[in-house]
Amino acid sequence: MLKSRSNQPPPCLAVVIPCYNEEDILPQTLDVLSTLLSDFIKSTLISDTSYILCVDDGSNDNTWEIINRNAVHSSYVRGLKLSRNYGHQNALLAGLANVADGEVIVSIDADMQDDPQVIRDMLVAWSNEYDIVYGVRNDRQSDTVFKRETAKLFYKLMKFMGVDLVPDHADFRLLDRRALDALLEYNERNIFLRGLVPLVGFLSTNVYYARKSRIAGESKYPLKKMLGLAVQGVTSFSIMPLRIIAVGGLLISTASVLAIIYILFDKINGHVIRGWTSITIAIFFMGGVQMLSLGVIGEYIGKIYIETKRRPRFHVENKTEI
Ligand code: UDP
Ligand code: MG
Repeated sequence: MLKSRSNQPPPCLAVVIPCYNEEDILPQTLDVLSTLLSDFIKSTLISDTSYILCVDDGSNDNTWEIINRNAVHSSYVRGLKLSRNYGHQNALLAGLANVADGEVIVSIDADMQDDPQVIRDMLVAWSNEYDIVYGVRNDRQSDTVFKRETAKLFYKLMKFMGVDLVPDHADFRLLDRRALDALLEYNERNIFLRGLVPLVGFLSTNVYYARKSRIAGESKYPLKKMLGLAVQGVTSFSIMPLRIIAVGGLLISTASVLAIIYILFDKINGHVIRGWTSITIAIFFMGGVQMLSLGVIGEYIGKIYIETKRRPRFHVENKTEI
């Protein structure tokens, strides 16, 4: 039987939202979340110091103005403006690193595709002693067939590579203070939070919801970025591709030795001209394998190069007044 946190005073909840060019939807999102927060406060699920932290990831529309306006009018809304666009993962990290007074931290996208009502279930799970609560989509009908299938393939690939991911979970999750502090100790530059969070351990559980379509604005994850995230996910967490290359290299070398023996016998038997086709095929094949292998190795060396520079992961340009 789990212990319960319900006999403790209500915690301060911080909701972190990374926002990049979200002027079309942000006012609505902030309305929904503010109402939700005041309901939670009334039902003493959270303390009245709880708040929403919007991270403006270098937007070039009116996102920051909207955040500021809301921060002036609502005691729930706070804002953080990054000095440029750092990408979803870094923007989210910037938010997480700036919620010093949050005891329970929920991250959610600005587009309301993830059902904010589920935050209540997350808080209930937290009060039952869970430190990490993953929001898991059990219905992806709103995504295109292509997005659903590529996502499925991605989870399979990651599993094969030995990376522990929660399937159909994006960055909608609850973290307890100690889980967040543990997460912030991971200092890598190439961050992929979905892979990092399970690494911190602690007691975790899932809550399920149906993912909706974006009600406004458009996805900032076109195919190119999705592929980038997949490569990032694999190469930041697994050295399996390097092992596959090594095993492939071994198999090809063994096959080559056998081929050499065969060719020598062929030559001894006087068939000198024959074999031109097999030679060209072998050259092209080996060229291809080597280029691919170098590419994969290059990807890892690139990662080492970036990691060794230890550049800051984001810069904060401005904050709203509390
Ligand atoms: N986002 C961000 N920086 C970026 C791209 C996206 O902060 O460079 C935010 C975006 O505003 C949204 C969240 O990350 O709140 C997820 O992006 P999006 O909804 O476009 O991704 P999708 O749901 O299509 O995967
Ligand atoms: Mg979205």
